[in-house]
Amino acid sequence: MKSNLTQNLSSTYLTLPSVLYREAFIEPLEGAHYIAHNPQLLESMHLAWDEAHMVALCNGTIKPQGIAMAYAGHQFGYFVPQLGDGRALHLGTHRGVHLQIKGAGRTYFSRNGDGKAVLRSSIREYLASQAMLGLGIASTDALALIGSVHPVRRESIERGAIVLRAARSWIRFGSFEYLNAHGHPEVMRTLARRVIEESYPHLLESSDPYYALLDAIIERTALMIAQWQGVGFVHGVMNTDNFSIAGDTIDYGPYAFMDGFDKNYVCNHTDTEGRYSYANQPMVAQWNIDKLAIALSPLLEYSRGQTLARSFMPRFHTMYETVMRAKLGLEIAHEEDGALVRWLLGILHKERIDWNVFWYRLSHYAGDRSALMEIVIDREALGAWMDSYDVRLTLESRPPQERLAAMQKTNPKYILKNYMLQEVIDAATQGDFSLVWQLQALAQRPFDAHPDMERYAHPTPLEYRHFELSCSS
Ligand code: AMP
Ligand code: MG
Repeated sequence: MKSNLTQNLSSTYLTLPSVLYREAFIEPLEGAHYIAHNPQLLESMHLAWDEAHMVALCNGTIKPQGIAMAYAGHQFGYFVPQLGDGRALHLGTHRGVHLQIKGAGRTYFSRNGDGKAVLRSSIREYLASQAMLGLGIASTDALALIGSVHPVRRESIERGAIVLRAARSWIRFGSFEYLNAHGHPEVMRTLARRVIEESYPHLLESSDPYYALLDAIIERTALMIAQWQGVGFVHGVMNTDNFSIAGDTIDYGPYAFMDGFDKNYVCNHTDTEGRYSYANQPMVAQWNIDKLAIALSPLLEYSRGQTLARSFMPRFHTMYETVMRAKLGLEIAHEEDGALVRWLLGILHKERIDWNVFWYRLSHYAGDRSALMEIVIDREALGAWMDSYDVRLTLESRPPQERLAAMQKTNPKYILKNYMLQEVIDAATQGDFSLVWQLQALAQRPFDAHPDMERYAHPTPLEYRHFELSCSS
């Protein structure tokens, strides 16, 4: 039996100690209207679809209040003791999924912000979270996207929008940093228990639960970052408040799925030092894990926490090797594989070769190199690498057809490049939302052929490459 979300919807976070949240009220948007929804997620949550009902829910007509969570965070290296949901409001928990509206208006934690989100950034978040899940990478999800005619001031006047986000957890590294900074060790214990119940139930019986928890967070985070690197995803704002305790990708801002491969790529133009560049992501994740281990020191002896935290990088490396081997179609591990990957990345980086197109074409390579050679200038360099790759393939025991089939399940045909998102945003700004739906289908099933969208499987048109984004959203 499918149901509607009603005014009885309540957040299980309300049963946490009250220092962790504040009551918040939805500030309705003028002229709120439906843009898109996610049938797949609705289905898995056993929810009925009713467009008008969903708009009313997001805009405060059905249930005007919810809660905003408190958290702290290291932003670009600097500790901010209080951040919190400045524009997100938790509506309630349904079948273990926490529903949150982003862009709902001002909360206790808004500081100087207006509590709003604009259409362009809401479209980007709505589609990216689904794309991440479509790629098999842990992420928050999105249930619906609502537009409005509500004026919102950014660099210019834009329109307000709301994403109804969904996640198995919204607890952040910064949630623990908040409790540590404000001296709440008992609340921290309660929160850690809740995180275990909610996101790591297999640890419930552990004799050393907080150690086991940090260990499991490290494991999931290492996998997430390895997978980001594999698909060429750059998060852009890897502050500890944007790191999920459940190891999910959260808070999509000025992110990018890379066009041409540039290991030093920075997608957020306000990040002038390149702190959150593609190549830095694993090191930043290690840095964030270190901060989490410090924050957990009331529960976990400091030196044990620090020693455990240091296991992040070796674990990341192992997972990264596994990810890259799978991309190359290698089933058997050989010591020289790392060198083969580095050699290839050097070639791709030098020419800024389209990351996704290269891997997609490699996943169809059965002796004829022309499709790959077509996208490089220095054919000699790639040819030498391909000779080595051919030799390496002879060490594999899996039949070539099976190898290619496996590669095609790990190298997507489509990724959500920024220029594609910009096309959707431009059309949506003119009132045409059909591309949102089309890209949603692509995002959810990036390994499928989608013949009607073939143009997105080509290298990014030159005029769109390295298109810059800011944090303003
Ligand atoms: P972000 O970088 O988007 O994850 O946001 C960092 C912090 O700023 C979080 O505490 C947000 O809730 C807050 N924030 C961002 N934009 C706004 C806004 N327009 N109004 C209020 N708070 C905001
Ligand atoms: Mg954030």
